[in-house]
Amino acid sequence: MPGFEFFGDLERKEVNDVLNTGVLMRYGFDGARDHYKAEELEQLISTRFDVNHTHLVSSGTAALTVALASAGVGAGDEVIMPMFTFVATFEAILSVGAIPVLANIDETLGLNANAVEKVITKRTKAIMPVHMCGAITDLDPLLKLCKKHNLRLIEDACQAIGGTYNGKLLGTIGDVGCFSFDYVKTVTCGEGGAIVTNNKDVYTNAVYYSDHGHDHLGVDRGKDEHPFLGYNYRISELHAAVGVAQFKQLDAFLEIQKKYFTIIEDALRTVKGLTFREIPEVGEQNYSFLSFFLPTKEKTQLAHKALSEGGIDATFYWFDNNWHYHTKWEHLKELTALGNVSRTIKENLPDYSNYDYEASDAIIARTLSCLIKLSWTEEEVKERASNMVTILNTIV
Ligand SMILES: *Cc1c(COP(=O)(O)O)cnc(C)c1O
Repeated sequence: MPGFEFFGDLERKEVNDVLNTGVLMRYGFDGARDHYKAEELEQLISTRFDVNHTHLVSSGTAALTVALASAGVGAGDEVIMPMFTFVATFEAILSVGAIPVLANIDETLGLNANAVEKVITKRTKAIMPVHMCGAITDLDPLLKLCKKHNLRLIEDACQAIGGTYNGKLLGTIGDVGCFSFDYVKTVTCGEGGAIVTNNKDVYTNAVYYSDHGHDHLGVDRGKDEHPFLGYNYRISELHAAVGVAQFKQLDAFLEIQKKYFTIIEDALRTVKGLTFREIPEVGEQNYSFLSFFLPTKEKTQLAHKALSEGGIDATFYWFDNNWHYHTKWEHLKELTALGNVSRTIKENLPDYSNYDYEASDAIIARTLSCLIKLSWTEEEVKERASNMVTILNTIV
């Protein structure tokens, strides 16, 4: 997955354009420059993703935060999110004063619509599916729920750039979609993120909100109006410049991922007893991770250990990972914070200890995900695949 594996002349050239003028900010300073890297990257994304609007921000977490705020999610609103994701999901929800409500996943490794429906209340404002590990959450049933209950669908496609559902790019299907361009994502800016949407109001909100409320209507930044409260989630021109070079290589990156993924998957399919993550029929994943299930938790833990010891790096066992699964989110469950937490959040936070995690635990305890690296050679991938088969056959 990681775009950082390829930092070369293309990236250097774009960054040098910015260094040569010295204009590091995306807005203003028109007389001193002849390029606008953030705008250029937004154009590239909108065109490639066939979406009306793209707005860059400083990180994927910022994208989630800005998306929530721009979709009108605020204090005390409930947002339904999966139990398997990155901590950024609930960080963003809490940061706008809203309440993270966890729901079970299914074998797509994404939110299960039946589980979501069970936790919808009068206060639910949005559903936030996360397309984890390049996988695809089955969105049609969630879209139906949104329509029925008048909810916003905010897609976190941070790990799934380039994947599709019903012929549309992941991230462009809900009201608003979010991407991360941090250093370990398929496309990187160093640090950065984006929201995409076809909704003009959401886009305008995002542009204003991520820049202190600036309406950007005049030529003099100091004279801009501030129709509502905002914050600073701006991306810098230097980061956007890296992204311009990287985004142009997206299709090349995806092609490599698919090729290496397929070699490993074909090999693992010969191992009796392994099953694979479900991909909704109407979708194509982005092949950034290969995820598979072992028959039991014990065997999965043994396999994880054996693969690591056998030199198969970058294999993840999410069940006891500190960042991605509810089992290690005691700081959320106990609201451990530096200062006082807002009373609205404290009083409305669900009692997570009462939750039924069984359905997700039964899946994640048996899941291993293997990161697909771009910098491998085909020979290395074949050797890796064959070593994995040998190791897994001793366990399954
Ligand atoms: C990386 C990631 C984020 C956060 O992105 P940052 O750019 O690191 O802030 C959010 N959600 C998911 C699923 C991610 O993988």
